Amino acid sequence: CFPAEVVPKAPEDALFGLMRAYRADESPDKVDLGIGAYRDDNAKPWVLPVVKKADDVIRNDPELNHEYLPIVGLEPFTSKAAELILGSNSPALTEKRTSTVQTISGTGAVHLGALFLSRFYKVNGANRTVYLPNPTWANHNQILTNVGLQVASYPYFDKDTRGLAYDGMLDAIRSAPERSIILLHPCAHNPTGVDPTEEQWRAIAEVMKEKKHFPFFDCAYQGFASGDLDRDASAVRYFIEQGFELLISQSFSKNLGLYGERAGCLHYIAAPGPSAQEVTTRVSSQLAVLQRSEISNPPIYGAKVAATVLNDPALFAEWRENLQTMSGRIIDMRKALRSKLEELGTPGTWNHITDQIGMFSFTGLNEQQVANLQKEYHIYMTKNGRISMAGLNTRNVDYVAKAVDQVVR
Ligand code: PLP
Repeated sequence: CFPAEVVPKAPEDALFGLMRAYRADESPDKVDLGIGAYRDDNAKPWVLPVVKKADDVIRNDPELNHEYLPIVGLEPFTSKAAELILGSNSPALTEKRTSTVQTISGTGAVHLGALFLSRFYKVNGANRTVYLPNPTWANHNQILTNVGLQVASYPYFDKDTRGLAYDGMLDAIRSAPERSIILLHPCAHNPTGVDPTEEQWRAIAEVMKEKKHFPFFDCAYQGFASGDLDRDASAVRYFIEQGFELLISQSFSKNLGLYGERAGCLHYIAAPGPSAQEVTTRVSSQLAVLQRSEISNPPIYGAKVAATVLNDPALFAEWRENLQTMSGRIIDMRKALRSKLEELGTPGTWNHITDQIGMFSFTGLNEQQVANLQKEYHIYMTKNGRISMAGLNTRNVDYVAKAVDQVVR
């Protein structure tokens, strides 16, 4: 039939293609450093102990049912999620200039935020370009362009230092037309693991204020990066203190290990001022209209798990410990990989592995070296040399270090 006849075949998603190749590999030595999902020291998915407890609470609730949630989501979840990212004493909360919508995790939050901006963020009748870090999470580009927004990039990663391309980043933000949309990763940048320092965040905010840019924070790793929920939210909180109007996408995939449950939120924060509450009410009403036509209402289970943890002080304290377990194991693996490469005298410098933070390390391995690691050593990572630190464990880190040493020589 005619319309389907003309549909071209799309390429397979690179990351999910890599996962398929890994699963098909029968080598007992194979190592998965591809997907950004936490694994324990046995390379197994880890259900957080606090999530198991929340699960019991939910299942034992005699009132449990499978009714629809309201369009904007489960209130005990959305209100605590806002406190988590903004801080419970945030002026934005006390001044009632925040609007939160529960979304299909971080992906859905980026999408809903992008859709909202494409509809309403116009200067002289036209949308503004969204500036993305180069590189960024592979999905940003297509989520934003799918809703008709134009994207451009700002330098982020310095190949020589394997750290932040700070000057280039600031220059590009300064050169972007006024009122551009700047997408920022507030912590544990994916894919590089490189974050600005506090001082650098202050300078970035200053330039953005000068140019009246609109910040869109994509926060997928709060608490997972440093192990400290407040520290990982500090960039977002600083921008709010500075009086920006902004959007935040928030995911609970990594920090609660709720990957497949799709728990997340989109937060809109109005700039302070006499009309802030009224603006917030209008924005809320439009977000609800968009949400209704997109998904009607969000999924209930992950939101209930998160709400149970966020609203119970004992479970919340236990969650902090679970976060320390995950971030601590990853930090240990960073130290182990670096020291093994240094012991082997592997050509190059390897301090960036411990300087970087969060789920990923941008190793600096080139495409050929990545291909050799897969072909000869059954070690799987994305073509850009990004490794998911969670795929390393005390059993395979020696093997990986020796393999890297071989392909680099
Ligand atoms: N944003 C960034 C930067 C990410 O790294 C991810 C996941 O890897 C997401 C958003 C979305 O994740 P999810 O949709 O599972 O919350």
